[in-house]
Amino acid sequence: MEASFSNEGIVEYEVIDRIAFVRMNRPDVSNAQNSAMTYALDDAFQRAVNDDNVAVIVLAGNGKHFSAGHDIGPTRDSHLPFERRSVLYFDHSTREAAELRYSRESEAYLGMCRRWAEIPKPTIAMVQGACIAGGLMLAWSCDFIIASDDAFFSDPTVRMGISGVEYFDHPWALNPRAAKELLFTGDRFPAQRAYELGMVNHIVPRESLETFTRDLGSRIATMPRFALTLAKKAVNLSYDAMGRRTGMDAAFGLHHLAHAHNAELTGDIIGGMDVKSMKLQGKSGAERDDK
Ligand code: ZN
Repeated sequence: MEASFSNEGIVEYEVIDRIAFVRMNRPDVSNAQNSAMTYALDDAFQRAVNDDNVAVIVLAGNGKHFSAGHDIGPTRDSHLPFERRSVLYFDHSTREAAELRYSRESEAYLGMCRRWAEIPKPTIAMVQGACIAGGLMLAWSCDFIIASDDAFFSDPTVRMGISGVEYFDHPWALNPRAAKELLFTGDRFPAQRAYELGMVNHIVPRESLETFTRDLGSRIATMPRFALTLAKKAVNLSYDAMGRRTGMDAAFGLHHLAHAHNAELTGDIIGGMDVKSMKLQGKSGAERDDK
């Protein structure tokens, strides 16, 4: 990759007692997700799916924060061509304007999260610190979310003139009113609130996050493999029958209307409030808040 930063070791992979730990490893940028990380995550998930010794997959982030969202800083690499794995699409880097954005995000954001949500083994997001925007998408694509007591969540994209992140799970992961509050304020909400709303399975002290997650994973790992796969599929299909998939597709179109509106107004696909107003409006989350 012809950039001044390295993507070496961007995702770590380790199997402990039939649990694959997939760890985002960009702690210096709060595990902001660039394309290289997206595909390294996908490689790791494929490896875990293909390994019969792996029963459960844990997605984690090294360092203080789980993930500050999609990389919109100097280490972003969204202009580069990359493989298409989640949907059959052309190379976005050969396209322009809305066509570029729609093809890229169909593959790398909506498509990848859907692909990971359908992994035929149980997945657990192990979340500490910030879990913001694109980070929320990663956590939402997992079956369980285990949060440490210092974890907090936010989707500040409305502040940026966007209708919500690409994998629009808000009304399902929360409930419609809470989803609106999350979006309309852009505020962080702490692990406890996320737990009360049913988005988080368990909250544990920061120091026991990994032990707790391993214990839970080990218990699930003893369950009959195929029944787990089918149970997961049954819940996912039920959600889709309730309209989740269709709702996400509709929201994805609106997300791209927002990108196009911003681009038409200013030339930047991110619009809305400037950084100063965002800071005044409330806590703006980590520096690398998603789009
Ligand atoms: Zn977008």
